[in-house]
Amino acid sequence: MDHCNFERLRVCRHCVLTLLAGLRLDQPRFERPVYTWLLFCQYDGPADKRWPAPCVDASYRECYAPRSPPTRMRAVDLIRKKRDSGELSREELGFLVSGYTRGEIPDYQMAAWLMAVWIQGLNCPEIAALTEVMLYSGEVLNHSEIPGKKVDKHSTGGIGDKTSLILAPIVAAGGLTVPMISGRGLGHTGGTLDKLEAIPGFNVNLSLEEFRRVLRECGMGLIGQTAEIAPADKKIYALRDVTSTVENIGLICASIMSKKLAEGIDALVLDVKTGSGAFMKKEEDSVRLAEVMVETGKRMGKKVVALITDMDQPLGRMAGHSNEVIECIEVLNGGGPADLCELSLELSAWMFFLGEKTRSVDEGRKLAESMIASGKAKEKLRQGIHLQGGDERVMDEPQRLPKARSRLDVASSVSGFITSTDCEGFGIALAMLGGGREKKEDTIDHGVGLEFHKRIGDPVEKGEPLATIHYNSDAKLVEAKSLISGSYHIRERAPREKRPLIRRILGA
Ligand code: URA
Repeated sequence: MDHCNFERLRVCRHCVLTLLAGLRLDQPRFERPVYTWLLFCQYDGPADKRWPAPCVDASYRECYAPRSPPTRMRAVDLIRKKRDSGELSREELGFLVSGYTRGEIPDYQMAAWLMAVWIQGLNCPEIAALTEVMLYSGEVLNHSEIPGKKVDKHSTGGIGDKTSLILAPIVAAGGLTVPMISGRGLGHTGGTLDKLEAIPGFNVNLSLEEFRRVLRECGMGLIGQTAEIAPADKKIYALRDVTSTVENIGLICASIMSKKLAEGIDALVLDVKTGSGAFMKKEEDSVRLAEVMVETGKRMGKKVVALITDMDQPLGRMAGHSNEVIECIEVLNGGGPADLCELSLELSAWMFFLGEKTRSVDEGRKLAESMIASGKAKEKLRQGIHLQGGDERVMDEPQRLPKARSRLDVASSVSGFITSTDCEGFGIALAMLGGGREKKEDTIDHGVGLEFHKRIGDPVEKGEPLATIHYNSDAKLVEAKSLISGSYHIRERAPREKRPLIRRILGA
């Protein structure tokens, strides 16, 4: 229980009794009723049996204020309420989230509710309440025994978006601690956890104790949501992935911020993608998402900035799990594609600055560059892989990563210039080849991938390869190939303006 943020809790006597009665040490933590009981305590007995504040900390007081005897809630009523564009209260959201996390509300009801949210949206109080109940579905870590600032980065997701594997070692090598909780592939985008699992033996399911040990030893740890940390997001994330309920500002904010605020960080850099390969296709929607997340983080006392960055085309040259690990190692070796290097350095620079390692972002960038040039960042990744059970020899022998058996070029049918891409199509094609999930139970083929030869603005000759498919099965190859080919828009003239990689910075 020492990991729980108990210093922030003030618990009524009824909760304490329930807590003691409910503590069964032979059960996995999240099956115990403790946290959810603390959060959703319905005790409404005599006031003299309460301690002064009913539950939790000041910002939640309103939620836990004495209330009239609870009426029994039902998921079906809350689905209908949202379907009919009603506003859900904090208690109602808590009921849904805790019920689903404990396995009392089935997938089909949660999926229906998520779709109702996707269609009707959530307002600001609902987003704040959903984020909070998801955050407190598990433990909020406290790394005060590790000296120095703890910082992290999270991206809203895109194609070839692999910066976590680059900046975590850069920033840890530079002296900050990076306790990173990431996700798996979501919708058409790839996930950091799936990429890490391409490395033979790499364990993203560390226990809390193991996570702390790895953080203490090397300053970075990369794990997924667990039964202890952000368990609500673990389940809801996997369900959203396969029910087309990802692209919603409220759901994305609650998912990202509940994980990140549980990490015990001081500062967070958000990479909010915009464009045809992002969940938010329009820049104004990306800005709105960034504002909501920055505001949520600041309300919880964290330093937060958001960079709005381009996802109108893939980041770097590679997509697919092994392919992306290889490209990250290239960057840490001082090579790699220009856009990936630029974004990784910029995000690392902001992490150094917010973590008070440097006095400016420019200084942060120089520190990041020096971590690559000295080889310290590469050695840090090697150490991190080793500590999480992975085969660190992949750092010098990439052939140890799973590899696709066959390759097929996608040739251009015309000559001209690439003017734009339907970047989401690349992600869908990759998923079709086995690089993503259609159902929760699906396994990932880490060897399949895409290699992009052309970027927006590049000239192309008829017959020249636009991309190369790395594949293991012919099953959906023809479909994937035509999707990729149709995702390049080629015109006679080059586009007039070059859109910047980093569009805007918010919260600075
Ligand atoms: N990343 C997350 O962790 N959650 C989302 O909903 C989207 C991107």
